[in-house]
Amino acid sequence: MLTVSSEATCSICLVGADWKHDSVLDYSFALGRRGLLPVSNESYRLGARVPSASIRGWLLIVTALAFLIMGPAAATADKDIAKETNQIRLVIGGDLGLGGSGQPVNPRGARRHGQLYAWDDLTAEISGLIDGDVNFANLETIVTAKNSLPVKKKTFVFRSHPAGVRHLVDIGFNVLSTANNHVGDYGTPGMRETLLELDKLRPHGLLAYPGLGISREDAANPSVVQIKGQRLLFSAIGIGGWAPSKRSPGILGFYSSRDFNEAVESLSREDGDFRVLSVHYGIELSVRPGANEIKKLRDRAVREMGIDLVVGHHAHVPAGVQEIDGLLVFYGLGNLLHLGMQDMSRFGPCRDYGLMAKVHLAENENGRLSAKAIEVWPLDKMHLKARRMKPKKAKRRIRVLNKLASGLDDKKTNSRGLRFLAREDGSGLACLEGAKDAGGRIGKLCGEWDGTAIAAQPSAPISCVRRRHVSTRRAKPPRRRGKKYSEPTLLGQFFGLQ
Ligand SMILES: [Zn+2]
Repeated sequence: MLTVSSEATCSICLVGADWKHDSVLDYSFALGRRGLLPVSNESYRLGARVPSASIRGWLLIVTALAFLIMGPAAATADKDIAKETNQIRLVIGGDLGLGGSGQPVNPRGARRHGQLYAWDDLTAEISGLIDGDVNFANLETIVTAKNSLPVKKKTFVFRSHPAGVRHLVDIGFNVLSTANNHVGDYGTPGMRETLLELDKLRPHGLLAYPGLGISREDAANPSVVQIKGQRLLFSAIGIGGWAPSKRSPGILGFYSSRDFNEAVESLSREDGDFRVLSVHYGIELSVRPGANEIKKLRDRAVREMGIDLVVGHHAHVPAGVQEIDGLLVFYGLGNLLHLGMQDMSRFGPCRDYGLMAKVHLAENENGRLSAKAIEVWPLDKMHLKARRMKPKKAKRRIRVLNKLASGLDDKKTNSRGLRFLAREDGSGLACLEGAKDAGGRIGKLCGEWDGTAIAAQPSAPISCVRRRHVSTRRAKPPRRRGKKYSEPTLLGQFFGLQ
């Protein structure tokens, strides 16, 4: 009996069982860069036993045959593996928080409406998606083990226990943005606690938490993440209102031109192979970015300053994705998992889901990374136990994304809204230029890619027009630090206290 399996020590191993001796005797051969080789004597599970002469004969024949059959395949596989080592998977998600508004923190789990939910229960359905080399999300909460921190007078305030964030790190999240409109919910002490607690998670796998800084300079400086010999840079800006000062940590704000330029220029200046800008911005429930927002993100950050990937969030709903000469803007990912948010299912197919995406990066000839393929997964139940949406429903959300993409086509700026091919499992796929030749995982994903299939997908008459009274409301930043800041009153009706 022959089986083929992949193991950590060899790309492909052939395992033969010696039935004659009625024992478990495995012969392993590594199909490595130099062909089929015995792994080592240690790989015999019953190391003291030596194969009989007849078995050795058979073994030689099998080895020769395998070499003849698999030789060319091995060369190809080898090449593919070499290419794959130069590929990086970057998983991105939206707003993340482990507790309802004002709920006390607890090391055993997160509270919503007074009820405690174990960490594992919250993430069980999405943990399989957190499988990138880098897994990013926006941590929309402070991090503290204390229930005694002075709270700001706001409609919604969020805090999460460090044990919960440790759980997020344990399931794979390794880069968390800290720039958003809830970072200051518990004032300066809350921000200090957050920095302290996140720092403690570094030995457990947290690589970076861009955004919150102990000074302007610190907040503007990109975080460096080294993966597979590549230097990835992450910066994060929030919606505003918590500027760093001599007395307090803080964040830079999207709606301040000075802050925005400082963050983008600092990110662009830093030496790196791929630059990511996380932006917490926008109008809640809006699925389309405004003209000014496009100007800042597409024109200033991407086209002028060469930022490779912009990751937007805050609006609670996903917006379209845009490609500009191979660079990407996700205008909004919506909620990922946040117990302070309400069940979005009441908002209809344009707003009732969150989005997780996997951006596949490959090294170019110039040694830098660029995006070659994007996979997306619509989620639901983001307010409690986020999970992948069922395929039939999810496919419809992919069509919503494609519809939003049509509003992002712009020949003048060489931009196009990204359309996704809805796959049977409800996920979406878009392959970019060069994906077919990228080899490795990307080559497998995009080998059969046919862009024209997207146009042939069934289209449904979906209208994403907002309700008027919501559309005119914007979550404006406070004019000065420390001023009472609440979300717009009407939104309070949508996002009742959790
Ligand atoms: Zn927000």
